Amino acid sequence: MSQQDIVYKSKINKIRSFALILIFVGFAFMYGGIFARNMSWLMYLLFIFGILSIILSTVVYFWIGMLSTKAIPIICPNCEKQTKMLGVVDACMHCRQPLTLDKDLEGKEFDEKYNRRSYRKKVKEKLN
Ligand SMILES: [Zn+2]
Repeated sequence: MSQQDIVYKSKINKIRSFALILIFVGFAFMYGGIFARNMSWLMYLLFIFGILSIILSTVVYFWIGMLSTKAIPIICPNCEKQTKMLGVVDACMHCRQPLTLDKDLEGKEFDEKYNRRSYRKKVKEKLN
């Protein structure tokens, strides 16, 4: 059972937490820059790192926005709330129920490998 106890995070949520961490890292760098103001080269370096991670986080947030428009909205069968799916397999954003768009995968163990391009191609060929 221990293998099945692993909780899967929805991909959109995963990327969102990554972007949030980047913002905190950026602020941490800039905060460090304030302490390093006696060494101006270090202060500038830390500020540049801080600004870069905040810019990167903005880019990631923008990317999630783009991904969300491509994600397929569905009603989770477990918690009956609306969630968005990315790829063939994903987890519910609210209850983390593993979800799939492929009928053949129903009941199978959740595996990220089903999102690989090669697998998706196979599914497409089967449908044609
Ligand atoms: Zn759910």
